[in-house]
Amino acid sequence: MKKTTGFDRSTTKKWHAATQAVRGGTWRSEHGETSEALFLTSGYSYDNAESVAARFSGEEQGMTYSRLQNPTVAMLEERIALIEGAEACRVQSSGMAAMTTALLSQLSAGDHIVSAKAAFGSCRWLVDTLCPRFGIESTVVEGSDNAAWERAIRPNTKVFFFETPANPTLDIVDMAYVCGLAKAHGITSVVDNAFATAVLQRPLEFGADVVAYSATKLMEGQGRVLAGAVCGTEKFMNEVLLPFQRNTGPNLSPFNAWVVLKGLETLQLRAQRQSENALAVGQAIEGRVARMLHPGLASHPQYELASRQMDACGPIFAFELPGGAAQAMAFLNALELVDISNNIGDSRSLCCHPWTTTHYGVSPDVRLDMGVGEGLLRINIGLEDPRDVIADLDQALTRVGL
Ligand SMILES: *Cc1c(COP(=O)(O)O)cnc(C)c1O
Repeated sequence: MKKTTGFDRSTTKKWHAATQAVRGGTWRSEHGETSEALFLTSGYSYDNAESVAARFSGEEQGMTYSRLQNPTVAMLEERIALIEGAEACRVQSSGMAAMTTALLSQLSAGDHIVSAKAAFGSCRWLVDTLCPRFGIESTVVEGSDNAAWERAIRPNTKVFFFETPANPTLDIVDMAYVCGLAKAHGITSVVDNAFATAVLQRPLEFGADVVAYSATKLMEGQGRVLAGAVCGTEKFMNEVLLPFQRNTGPNLSPFNAWVVLKGLETLQLRAQRQSENALAVGQAIEGRVARMLHPGLASHPQYELASRQMDACGPIFAFELPGGAAQAMAFLNALELVDISNNIGDSRSLCCHPWTTTHYGVSPDVRLDMGVGEGLLRINIGLEDPRDVIADLDQALTRVGL
């Protein structure tokens, strides 16, 4: 596509994140549109047969097929790479497509992966079930225990994989230590940064090699589409990830890419405000619950580490009610404003019971081992006035006798 008023990397790289989030990666067509154009096309046509041959051989730059390139998708990839401070980014159709691509593109039978045990249910399934099925050995460790990562290393360890903060227990992994350890052993560290995003936490600055996202969450921010992203070096993208992605096709549709582009324009504002709101709500109910899991509150065992790694703690936290599943479900049913929903990162406040939803797919033993108890609730605090959210939680807690 002709870049009539596009900026190149040497300029956009120098912009601050908020500018990158609004303007980064924009290519304007000959119409000079202000908002990014949506190219809903699967194929491309060429002036002559030599031109298509030159594109396929790599002699000529240009699009050939939307599983390989699409202008709207490319704008999103460039924008995410800029915000992340990464050399390159590729987007996928969902967060799980991103995680699967990030892992399977680099692992082969005979390799070994080490993962933090506190993780999103499907991420645990990749590590516990899918990897072993293809001859990839896997070990899960207590992510907050630095020594456990070192003990788990084997000669064939190829990847460290973890979320920080983790879904849904908000466990924090010491990125400088764990990514440094990986580097010293030639292991690739893959960090799932969905809860924070690059505007609150920058894993590459702590030594991460690859940053992977469910862009469905805070990045997109308004609960509309699924999307995923993987960020890393040009070399990783070209030599490892792209051969896998181009031939297996976990692509993001141009329409969904366009929605995420719009979401990124307000990412910084939303992330900051929702973090403030989540802190206010967490403080307000902390004394009423059996256990509060919010890395921005001094009661969190990794409060210091979280303050070092994160600019703010994001919209999500978890808390446990003493009365187990029955009380947790009664609490959800008593909510009037906050929706019962297992999504997160949305501009609306949403609450769910991981035991019966997001983590239902992992065995009860594994759930308990990763800190997901029957009374645990995970909440995403949105952009509503926090006083209204607090009032709703207050009345629901009262109705369940707390
Ligand atoms: C939601 C989530 C995923 C999966 O993303 P989808 O977009 O739902 O496929 C992966 N990791 C974390 C930490 C998540 O919260």
